[in-house]
Amino acid sequence: AAPPPRPHVVLVASPGAGHLIPMAELARRLVAHHGLAATLVTFPDPFAPSAAAPSSVLSSLGAAGVSTAALPAVALDDLPVDAHIETVLLELIGRSIPHLRGMLRDIRSSARLAALVPDFFCSTVLPLAAELGVPAYIFFPGNLTTLSLMRSAVELNDGAAPGELRDLPADALRLPGGVSLRREDYGDGFRDSKAPVYTHLIEEGRRYRAADGFLVNTFYEIEPATVEELEQVVEQGTFPPAYPVGPLVRPSSGEDDVSSACFDLEWLDRQPAGSVVYVSFGSAGALSVEQTAELAAGLEHSGHRFLWVVRMPSLDGANNNFAAMDDKDDPLAWLPEGFLERTRGRGLAVAAWAPQVRVLSHPATAAFVSHCGWNSTLESVAHGVPMIAWPLYAEQGVNATVLSENVGVALRLRPRADGLVEREEIAAAVQELIGGEEMGRAVRRRAGDLREAAARACVPGGSSWQMLEEVAGKWKAAALGRQQGQ
Ligand code: UDP
Repeated sequence: AAPPPRPHVVLVASPGAGHLIPMAELARRLVAHHGLAATLVTFPDPFAPSAAAPSSVLSSLGAAGVSTAALPAVALDDLPVDAHIETVLLELIGRSIPHLRGMLRDIRSSARLAALVPDFFCSTVLPLAAELGVPAYIFFPGNLTTLSLMRSAVELNDGAAPGELRDLPADALRLPGGVSLRREDYGDGFRDSKAPVYTHLIEEGRRYRAADGFLVNTFYEIEPATVEELEQVVEQGTFPPAYPVGPLVRPSSGEDDVSSACFDLEWLDRQPAGSVVYVSFGSAGALSVEQTAELAAGLEHSGHRFLWVVRMPSLDGANNNFAAMDDKDDPLAWLPEGFLERTRGRGLAVAAWAPQVRVLSHPATAAFVSHCGWNSTLESVAHGVPMIAWPLYAEQGVNATVLSENVGVALRLRPRADGLVEREEIAAAVQELIGGEEMGRAVRRRAGDLREAAARACVPGGSSWQMLEEVAGKWKAAALGRQQGQ
């Protein structure tokens, strides 16, 4: 007789390359290594409706045996034009629930549902798992420290009514694993209890309690003390257990069709091994015109080779821009006069997007100036590339703190009081990281060690492999039990 169909996991990814990419990789591993079938559900992206990265990520999943399903668009035009990104995402997800319910029922009519895995923005989806009687695990694309920050804010506000939310400490917050977080690094959402986004995040965090666990895109060896201390805290508290299952990083071959037409990988092939500084601020990081000029001068003065993914500068002082680029936009036109000519041959500036995993896995790449998005960080760690931490928004300050103060794989840039990072600071950090004999050497060595630990975590017997095997085992046993009980 044919083997029974595999138990089926449904993963729900909120919009954004930084959420979709690791979830796609999680789905791929569940199918390839842990005996499950999987469908990855996506929303229309309200910020970048035709973004190239998501479509290429999704199209590569079919070959890996993962199904994909896209939810239809819902109207959002009643939201204020200046609504915070979290607000827009939460509204989009909330309004999509009826469509998702229908989709889940369809899947269940032909498959054995094993679990529902919404990402950290989609906790309003959790009641659907209860309706269907399947376990619910939240996919958390950040690290355990960021999850701990969320837990702290939620527990601090236990019992507090919406208008009476309490602020996190004004000085430093002590988190599991010996992490001490300064207020300026809390991230936009957690800095002000009066801001609507704080209320949203607390509500989101309260809903997390209905989940059976978290699958976290981190690994034991990068935050060992946090993993251990958090286990104890969670036992005493009211938050579900967290399973480190990462790093969920795409193989560089998975990027073959994420090409930006203007990208010249051959340029990198022509550079000496370990000589190039890669500079990128993720899918939405933005610098002011003045800051762009300062970065250009810093790279120029460092004397090192560089590959810089340049995005449109922000004209309003915001440090992010989620809008899709217009075809007419030319970010390179905003670089300082003469910069491209003066650095020709040793520097390459590309517009908007680069196949980042290929760049980070390239032997010519020596260092990464990064906004510390957690996916970028894990990609850097997985390829042993030491970092210069330049956090811009969201939880990037948390990541920068952990990387520079606890993990030791990054040097952190210090801005002036007005927020500008000066050219001398940038040039000095690049020189230290590439050639420095003390701090630079320690960070380079740590990056090399951590690359090996990351690789070990994800093969059979490794820490993250075992975590995923344990969770998948629970799902399969429960699915089988339900079927036999029917
Ligand atoms: N990315 C890329 N090319 C770019 C910029 C980003 O491939 O030019 C990918 C990057 O490899 C990572 C994701 O987009 O997988 C960005 O996620 P991250 O969490 O680092 O930052 P976010 O964009 O969410 O701020």
